[in-house]
Amino acid sequence: MQRLDAVVVGSGPNGLAAAITLARAGLRVQVLEAHGRPGGGVQSAALTLPGFTHDLGSAIHPLAAASPAFRQWPLHAFGLDWVQPEVPVAHTLWPGSSGAVLLERSLEATAEGLGRDGPAWRAMFGPLLADWEGLLHDILRPLLRLPGHPLTLARFGLRGLPSAEFVGRTVFQTPQGRALWAGLAAHTTLPLGTPGTAAMTLVLGLLAHAVGYPFPRGGAQALADAMTAYLRFLGGEVLTGVTVRGPTDLPEARVVLVDSSPAVLLKLLGDRAPAAYRRALERFRYGPGIQKFDYALSGPPPWLDGRVNRSATVHVGGSFKDIVRSERAFTSARPYVLAAQHTLFDPTRAPAGQHTFWAYAHVPSGSAADIRPQVEAQLERFAPGFRERVLACHVTTAPQLAAFSPVMVSGDVNGGASTLWQLLARPTPALTPYRTPVRGYYLCSSSTPPGGGVHGMAGYHAALTALRDEFGEQDHG
Ligand SMILES: Cc1cc2nc3c(=O)[nH]c(=O)nc-3n(C[C@H](O)[C@H](O)[C@H](O)COP(=O)(O)OP(=O)(O)OC[C@H]3O[C@@H](n4cnc5c(N)ncnc54)[C@H](O)[C@@H]3O)c2cc1C
Repeated sequence: MQRLDAVVVGSGPNGLAAAITLARAGLRVQVLEAHGRPGGGVQSAALTLPGFTHDLGSAIHPLAAASPAFRQWPLHAFGLDWVQPEVPVAHTLWPGSSGAVLLERSLEATAEGLGRDGPAWRAMFGPLLADWEGLLHDILRPLLRLPGHPLTLARFGLRGLPSAEFVGRTVFQTPQGRALWAGLAAHTTLPLGTPGTAAMTLVLGLLAHAVGYPFPRGGAQALADAMTAYLRFLGGEVLTGVTVRGPTDLPEARVVLVDSSPAVLLKLLGDRAPAAYRRALERFRYGPGIQKFDYALSGPPPWLDGRVNRSATVHVGGSFKDIVRSERAFTSARPYVLAAQHTLFDPTRAPAGQHTFWAYAHVPSGSAADIRPQVEAQLERFAPGFRERVLACHVTTAPQLAAFSPVMVSGDVNGGASTLWQLLARPTPALTPYRTPVRGYYLCSSSTPPGGGVHGMAGYHAALTALRDEFGEQDHG
């Protein structure tokens, strides 16, 4: 057999993106995946009843739609078909009041819906929207680099460095504007008072206007399948059911890219890892976990405000204060619930007239405490009668998520806390944090920049680094 050029451990979106980038450069690449199917956090299965398709991990994919790597690959030719709901995000406000606020695709329509906060929303997102591709180029990669778009990045940095709570209180005046902002901020999975949380909030708001909040028709798995098919088309191999536990499980290859946790990387490096690097990786911190609920419903969710059904993504959070409280310790009786209702727009995922409903709430790191009663009580506040439509529910706890992928330590779906420090030093402070001190070994998971989410950019940049270091290539993006 011909010697491999590269082995990729793990087939999450970052592992697959790394493998595609290497294969596009003409390298012989093999991916080793512990699960029976490629995809990592991007998989779908019939978790509840026959005929229902649920997303095991990621559900809504603005980052994937905007990813500079994915956008240059012909994934549509390999079966990827984006479903684009009319409205990116609906945020349920409080029962009995104006119901919901909508984050529309159009900046103007969103601003109009926000009334007195319209000008603030426009001023916040308008200038970034004008150069959104330049901004993403600069932030979906290690931040300790010379920016290609310094003005846009400076504008983003000024707004993004403070906490989301501070920005929400100082920039917006209306309950609607503040609540919409807080619902986006809660995606950071950090208390909203944490410095730097405004940055991801800005990105998520910006993406709604730039590319919408789409998802793959048929299930998130369709994205992983398209990536795998493209990789195979390029000559890459994907072996499933193979867990790499130590260096002896690795075939011989010039480079090894690890789509896993820093702890797994250390195991693979063994004694070759210098003590200082080992200590630095051991200091890497994880955020809280999530508890996830996959429902089969007999009908659509009965939202008080029917406009919520114009969006697949629903922030069931209530007011700014409610969300700040919920995300402070992740133990609120009224948790912020992030929900996705795909079948309103993609009927292929459930039997005729019936629906899937994907939801999660944050929990303390590693917690398996049952929060289904709190989550359903919260859903009932905004969609009375929700419980009566439940045909089946599948619960996934934070420890189960951690067992599902080593990247999701204690149920942290971002591969490590997105604190300001760990946005810069992910997993260690370095200009090229993918490179390890052991020649030929690279970390390429969401524990490297730009962090969590389905965008493949960690794998893409890690692969470009390996190409430059070991194969004398300049750029094969
Ligand atoms: C419930 C949930 C909801 C989410 N929602 C969204 C969302 O809506 N939108 C979004 O953009 N993101 C979302 N995310 C986050 C997103 O899924 C992750 O950030 C992303 O999958 C991380 O990609 P990755 O390649 O770094 O790691 P993973 O996707 O975790 O993949 C790592 C893969 O490597 C394999 N692996 C690791 N170590 C080994 C080993 N030693 N041997 C063999 N195989 C190994 C694992 O089995 C796994 O398949 C969600 C995640 C979860 C869990």
